Amino acid sequence: MSEEKDEKVDAKNFVPKDKMENDQIKNRKKMFLRRKVCRFCVDENLKIDYKEVDTLRRFITEGGKIIPKRMSGNCSKHQRRVAAAIKVARAIALLPYVKA
Ligand SMILES: [Zn+2]
Repeated sequence: MSEEKDEKVDAKNFVPKDKMENDQIKNRKKMFLRRKVCRFCVDENLKIDYKEVDTLRRFITEGGKIIPKRMSGNCSKHQRRVAAAIKVARAIALLPYVKA
């Protein structure tokens, strides 16, 4: 009988501990998110062109800033091209420098 009680107590103590560990793992996953891959490397049909505003819009924030490589997931090569294309598009007013 006494042994059973001990097991129950142990079980009660273990459940919340496991829960906490699971939550911590979930938080970690949320913090780091999923490892993104460069979408231009994956999809060769996707062009980086200053005229393709719809594609470039995905790489600027609402305020009009260029999203950094660490957040967009682009590789260095494509991030440079995206940034250059956005800057050209801005100069000919296809994209905003800042959003009003
Ligand atoms: Zn790439």
